[in-house]
Amino acid sequence: TKYVYFFGSGKAEGTAQMKELLGGKGANLADMTSIGLPVPPGFTISTEACAYYSSHEGAYPQGLREQVLENLAKLETLMGAKLGDNENPLLVSVRSGAAQSMPGMMDTILNLGLNPTSVKALIAKTNNERFAWDSYRRFMQMFGDVVMGVPHHEFESALQDVKDSKGKSLDTELDSKDLQEVIARYQRLYKRYTGEEFPVDPIDQLFKSINAVFKSWNNERANKYRQMNDIRGLLGTAVNIQSMVFGNMGDTSGTGVAFTRDPSTGENQFYGEYLMNAQGEDVVAGIRTPEPIETLRAVNADVYDQLVGIRSILEKHYKDMQDIEFTIQEGKLYMLQTRNGKRTIFSWLRSQVEMVEEGLIDKETAIARVPAGEFGKLFAPILDAKYIRDNGLNEVTRGLNASPGGACGQIYFTADKAEEMAALGKDVILVRAETSPEDIGGMAVAKGVVTCRGGMTSHAAVVARGMGCPCVSGAGDIHINEAKKTLEVNGTNLSEGDYMSIDGFTGAVYGTKIPVRSSEIVQVLNGHMKESESNLFYNYKTFMAYVQEVKRLGVYTNADTPHDTEMAVAFGAEGIGLCRTEHMFFGGNRIMSIRKMILANNLIAREKALSELLPMQRGDFEAIFLALEGRPATIRLLDPPLHEFLPNDHTSRHELALQMGLTVEEVAQKSSALHEFNPMLGFRGCRLAIIYPEILRMQVRAIIEAAINVKRKGVDVLPEIMIPLVGNYKEFVFCKKHALEVIEKIFNEQGMKVHYKIGTMIEVPRAAITADEIAREAEFFSFGTNDLTQMTCGFSRDDAASFLGPYVNDTDKQFYDYDPFATIDIDGVGKLVDMAAKLGRSTNPEIKLGICGEHGGDPKTIAFCDKVGLDYVSCSPFRVPIARLAAAQASI
Ligand code: ADP
Ligand code: MG
Ligand code: MG
Repeated sequence: TKYVYFFGSGKAEGTAQMKELLGGKGANLADMTSIGLPVPPGFTISTEACAYYSSHEGAYPQGLREQVLENLAKLETLMGAKLGDNENPLLVSVRSGAAQSMPGMMDTILNLGLNPTSVKALIAKTNNERFAWDSYRRFMQMFGDVVMGVPHHEFESALQDVKDSKGKSLDTELDSKDLQEVIARYQRLYKRYTGEEFPVDPIDQLFKSINAVFKSWNNERANKYRQMNDIRGLLGTAVNIQSMVFGNMGDTSGTGVAFTRDPSTGENQFYGEYLMNAQGEDVVAGIRTPEPIETLRAVNADVYDQLVGIRSILEKHYKDMQDIEFTIQEGKLYMLQTRNGKRTIFSWLRSQVEMVEEGLIDKETAIARVPAGEFGKLFAPILDAKYIRDNGLNEVTRGLNASPGGACGQIYFTADKAEEMAALGKDVILVRAETSPEDIGGMAVAKGVVTCRGGMTSHAAVVARGMGCPCVSGAGDIHINEAKKTLEVNGTNLSEGDYMSIDGFTGAVYGTKIPVRSSEIVQVLNGHMKESESNLFYNYKTFMAYVQEVKRLGVYTNADTPHDTEMAVAFGAEGIGLCRTEHMFFGGNRIMSIRKMILANNLIAREKALSELLPMQRGDFEAIFLALEGRPATIRLLDPPLHEFLPNDHTSRHELALQMGLTVEEVAQKSSALHEFNPMLGFRGCRLAIIYPEILRMQVRAIIEAAINVKRKGVDVLPEIMIPLVGNYKEFVFCKKHALEVIEKIFNEQGMKVHYKIGTMIEVPRAAITADEIAREAEFFSFGTNDLTQMTCGFSRDDAASFLGPYVNDTDKQFYDYDPFATIDIDGVGKLVDMAAKLGRSTNPEIKLGICGEHGGDPKTIAFCDKVGLDYVSCSPFRVPIARLAAAQASI
């Protein structure tokens, strides 16, 4: 088997298509080499080798070691130098890189091949003593940390000690004597932790490093990242061994990262940062604050122009925004990486719309790329600008606008404390000098993140953008006193727990509480902002037009009020898939009427109470039909167990008894008679309508009369009456008979008809199994996947949290790929849905099929619904745009 792929001097064995095997980094290094970009030569060890290593307790597959050595020899010949040689040393980097990029999650070793003799040769070769020692100490630090697990901070404090003792503050101020002292300290440190001397044999260094990269695939950070980002099914990481180029050779050298478009806003402008006389991670680690890319023109115009040229070559080649790494060695430019850039959802939207308009990509490509899971963040809140103006608030400082969104909360200085306070329900702003991968937990729960150091590409910025968490980075005026748990910023002092507000769009930081308000899109939709004032709205509207053109599935909404309905329609909902009537029973004195109905001892009293409810329900339906403007509305008849409507504390019972002229005992008695051990499987759904048909008859009357009233106003109506919790077609037939009687009667009374449908929810497994029988009578099915999941898996949704978390997340379990209440359990519940759809269509080819559970807004479930041929999905109003996008993606 071939495990190793070479790239160098214009030729490469790998291609851009080989990401699974060579990782994204390896595949693109090969590809960039092939298209003639200046890439330092090297070779890539495949992910298959890593998979073998992981499953064979660290053993190599046959031939791997030999292939590595052969390719190393080839590289040495090409470079005219030999790894760690005492006369003409070649130095390499050992870099990880999986098929999907996992930034900062796996570790890289630079300057490998240095030892006490090769460092002398490097000095002789480059005539740059400081650079050689600097490279050596960097290598020792990375090797010690990554390969041997010597704590990173130990190296940092050894370095700091030397700086302090020399009275120097920046790494770059250390001269070669200072650096040799650092190295001596590193050597002692290494020995103390590992019990060994630092390895001097370059081949030994190389294989130890390769193994460390293989191992890093399964370290905790990497696992956590994959879990958080739902990355599955990869073989492992590839390992890239690449000849070094040096950005730390002095003032004509440097290193940088850039994006071909703005990763925050998506604007089509070159965007990046660099540092001169720096290497590798220096730019992103926040050690010094880097310079914006435009200023490179003044430093070296040739290199800048070359970079701008490469920017456009890469975008035309990959047809997407690229995130690149480059290094300048003594005035010569090298490319070290390119990948599709991670970006905010704002940037996704704008870049994709503009790329379609530029003719770079087609609509389908744009749709396929925009992450549906992130789409909701477009509607995320922003700081209330008017409040800021009206109160004359001034920012206390301004950092970099690293991740968009407004946030307000109480400040905490450590990730642990942030997690602790968030768990208590507080809004938290995490304030750190800089963040590292250990802070991920705290960042995940924070409303916003602020760092004092680090640029737009710092760890905090990258991670926060990925999480959609507002972030201001590099706010250098903030001085944190971790011990006292306070901060000082331009004269303002804040303590732990004090309020801070941040604007991730601009980088502004306020030392006070500021209300956060709706996104521009929501404001335009609500008529609070003019369409022409919002570029975001333009991009949104343009993109949603592509979506509408491409998708097959209908997207409906779950809405119980005219307001929700209007919002959903503004978001593009094509109807209501679930209107829960019981929610309408709670407001005002309605609850009294329904209680009267429940407590009634005979039909007459019950019908009297119901007649009080009729006009209220009718009014609700009229308002909803008007808001729908002719779109269909699926209205579910009363579903929950009746005891949910009765008060259960003494005072309220007393009050109820008084109002109804009953004794408290009578009320209590009726309540306890209605008490059930397992209400979820009790007297609810169509069972209520079957025992008390008058309830159903009132509701059907309210629906149909409302429809007629609205139709009289010249607005189309399409009511769909939905019977809940049917398990046996006879239940459905019984309910339908009553409904039809009422409807016929109303048509006669009114001398007018409306179109309507009668159908059922499929939420009891028996209904799914006998769907062919039910479909002979029903005009539509709506899969109620919440109940269907509860009853199929036997998980009570309200009680399952204690074991379902481990069921899904614990690596030794993972019985379900996803929480079955969030993403449909395709193999179980999904199979029932598929089967019921087929059975239903077998007896009623015209039947309309939809889904109305929480799952209806979940992109993975939507893909499933598209596949099994449902007609629509229904979800909450704010998820409608997400569902529309997911539906379009499903049909590509
Ligand atoms: P990550 O995946 O975390 O970005 P990389 O493998 O890209 O890690 O490397 C970390 C840093 O080291 C990057 O800044 C990269 O540009 C730099 N680097 C990697 N290989 C080389 C090399 N051969 N010469 C110079 N710099 C390198
Ligand atoms: Mg990189
Ligand atoms: Mg249900």
